[in-house]
Amino acid sequence: MSDQDEFRPALDEAVALAGRWLGDVRDGHIPPSADVEQVKDALGRELPERGPGAVEVLRHLAEAAEPGLMRIHSPRFHGWVMGGAQPVALAADWLTSAWDQNNGLRAVTPGVAGAEELAAEWLLDLLGLPSGSEVGFVTGATVANLAGLLVARDEVLRRAGWDAAVDGLAGGPQVRLFVGAERHGSVDSAASMAGLGHGRAIPVDDQGRMRVDALAEALAEGEGPAIVVLQAGNIHSGAFDPFSEAIEVAHRAGAWVHVDGAFGLWAAAAPALRPLVAGVADADSWATDAHKTLNVPYDCGIVAVADPGALHRAMAQHAAYLASSDTVADPSDRVPELSRRARGVPVYATLAQLGRQGVAELVQRLADSATVIADGVRGLPGGEVLNDVVYTQVCAAFGSDDRTRAVGEALLADGRALASASTWHGRAVLRFSVSNWLTDAAEASRTVDAVRRAVAAVG
Ligand SMILES: *Cc1c(COP(=O)(O)O)cnc(C)c1O
Repeated sequence: MSDQDEFRPALDEAVALAGRWLGDVRDGHIPPSADVEQVKDALGRELPERGPGAVEVLRHLAEAAEPGLMRIHSPRFHGWVMGGAQPVALAADWLTSAWDQNNGLRAVTPGVAGAEELAAEWLLDLLGLPSGSEVGFVTGATVANLAGLLVARDEVLRRAGWDAAVDGLAGGPQVRLFVGAERHGSVDSAASMAGLGHGRAIPVDDQGRMRVDALAEALAEGEGPAIVVLQAGNIHSGAFDPFSEAIEVAHRAGAWVHVDGAFGLWAAAAPALRPLVAGVADADSWATDAHKTLNVPYDCGIVAVADPGALHRAMAQHAAYLASSDTVADPSDRVPELSRRARGVPVYATLAQLGRQGVAELVQRLADSATVIADGVRGLPGGEVLNDVVYTQVCAAFGSDDRTRAVGEALLADGRALASASTWHGRAVLRFSVSNWLTDAAEASRTVDAVRRAVAAVG
């Protein structure tokens, strides 16, 4: 048996099973039909003394898990802010697993380190961020926010004469943290993990954008090291903070500016949407996701820091046994992890296929499809759109809170489109997020058809 034959049966089976699952991507029922306990029963709860062959295990796994799978890759899945996986991205992700590179040190794994370094350069270009910035590939925007805040924290303390890396936080100057009142929950979580607490919430306007006058007042009330977290893409309204003005105010006060742009930073890649992020490049650090707008498989987040030294000081590990290449930073100098998969490789492959034009079209298509959904909702009995639809998010209501919730439940039961229930500005809403590469005007119209059926069912 050749080495290849050891792997071939299992990999061929995986291709066949994936083909079966993906073959139904446009028309399959979206929500899962089995719950966790049912899936565990179907999988079998006992650890066997010895199991069957790989092919049999894979078949059984797919059979048992598929009823519990959410069709997140459907073009009419608009829950939370997610996204699917483009074919080239999925295939490159498989290759990345097959190559099995531990991408901590560039001299050890140059094949994937090279692809990630190019992906990083291209990302900075597409997102309009300073070309000298350093980029780390992390698991998602939550960890990208954490990495950004860790760098920010160490750097503002270093400037105040305190070495947090060595001496810790206790006994050092207090770091003042300012966040928007409508920040994403991951900012709170990241700030907690960074030992900063939740900070002070700055009031926002009717679309959830930070009020610069309120930020200026809050910064002026005290002194000492400070961090301001801005947002590109509010999960309810899609709105963007006023970057130019807010960053100027923050920098004048000596604060570090971090931007949570999990899905919103991508507006920079589409010429007609680029004005939404005007001025964002003047910030100090940025977090975004590739597994949302770019549609690569989970888990792929991105942290970028304008000052490479600040990122390296916060993240690098130093040990004699690590064959570091010294003059150039290693992948592990840019992220909290040492051992990790080369999750930037699918980003490289996706950007290589789409090119600048393809990424621009993707982002524009998402925003245009959101407009189709918003227009459709407004035409339904009792349908209202509560936000200014400037990007990919639509916040809909259908009269009273009870009726809006009932429409959401009817839509879930119909299963041909999915939106997530939430509350915004005191009202129950159905949030439609357009983040999937397969969503276009035709699919957005099918979403509206599904909502129309749900509204009719509720009466
Ligand atoms: C999704 C999201 C996050 C968290 O990203 P993960 O990739 O899920 O960790 C943070 N901020 C915003 C605005 C988001 O939409």
